[in-house]
Order: sequence, then C-alpha cells, then structure tokens
Amino acid sequence: MRCPICKRQTSWKGNPYRPFCSERCKLLDLDNWLAERYRARVPADTGRPSEEAPSSRHAVKGKHA
Ligand SMILES: [Zn+2]
Repeated sequence: MRCPICKRQTSWKGNPYRPFCSERCKLLDLDNWLAERYRARVPADTGRPSEEAPSSRHAVKGKHA
C-alpha cells in the first residue's frame, strides 16, 4: 500500500495511521483538507482590503505648522 501523502510504501498491518504511513502524513492530509475548506469559504478576491486610510496618513503629517 502507498501513503497518499508521501507516496512511500507503507504497511497496513498494525498501522494506526492508515491509509497514511505515519502520524505526520495523517496530520499533513488533515492540514490540506482544512486549508482547502477554508479557501473554499473565502469569497473570490473582491479587491484588496483598504491599504492605508489616507486620513490617518494625514494625521501623522498634521504637525506641520
Ligand atoms: Zn506518508
């Protein structure tokens, strides 16, 4: 059997992390899965979040006079 994450040959017998070869790969897979779910929930790029409010920049330079 092959581990779907690292593609290494792994034995199923007595392997608590099936179908992965190790806990590491199991966690990696979970990580990928969560990341994809998270991405799916985020709406497509709707423009950047306001970079910098011009007013705040003004306030910093306000001490001119
Ligand atoms: Zn693996």
